[in-house]
Amino acid sequence: MPTLEHKPAGLAAARFFPTGLKPCWTGVVLCLAALALMATACKKDVAMEAIDSDANGYLCLKCGAKLYTARTVFIGPQCPKCQQQSLMDATGYYCEKDHHLTIRPSRQDPQPVVCDVCKAPLVNAMRLPREKDLKAWGATKVSS
Ligand SMILES: [Zn+2]
Ligand SMILES: [Zn+2]
Repeated sequence: MPTLEHKPAGLAAARFFPTGLKPCWTGVVLCLAALALMATACKKDVAMEAIDSDANGYLCLKCGAKLYTARTVFIGPQCPKCQQQSLMDATGYYCEKDHHLTIRPSRQDPQPVVCDVCKAPLVNAMRLPREKDLKAWGATKVSS
């Protein structure tokens, strides 16, 4: 008897739906708000990561010294290793493909920087290297 079986189910739905509606929608709205917050926080982090760093990287064009300092410490253009006026700021170029940060002196070069790993040109991929990136690059810390 399909009609009899159907009826209690229909009644149950009619009874529970109006009361269940409000908390359910509040939950959905809260969920969406949380998701929106997470999305904006996420976007902000990525943007901040590109311009924010905890260290300054340097490369000497004369002796090839790779150095870094704390964010608040600035050195150069005199190289502490060879004493030449050839210390350049180093900056990073991030490869989306292999998540590798290629570090180069930040001079205006018409040639795009090429990824250390996959050799693809990295255009508009500039990102300030962080201490861990500079360490991985082989830089040593200079304290003053
Ligand atoms: Zn040097
Ligand atoms: Zn690459």
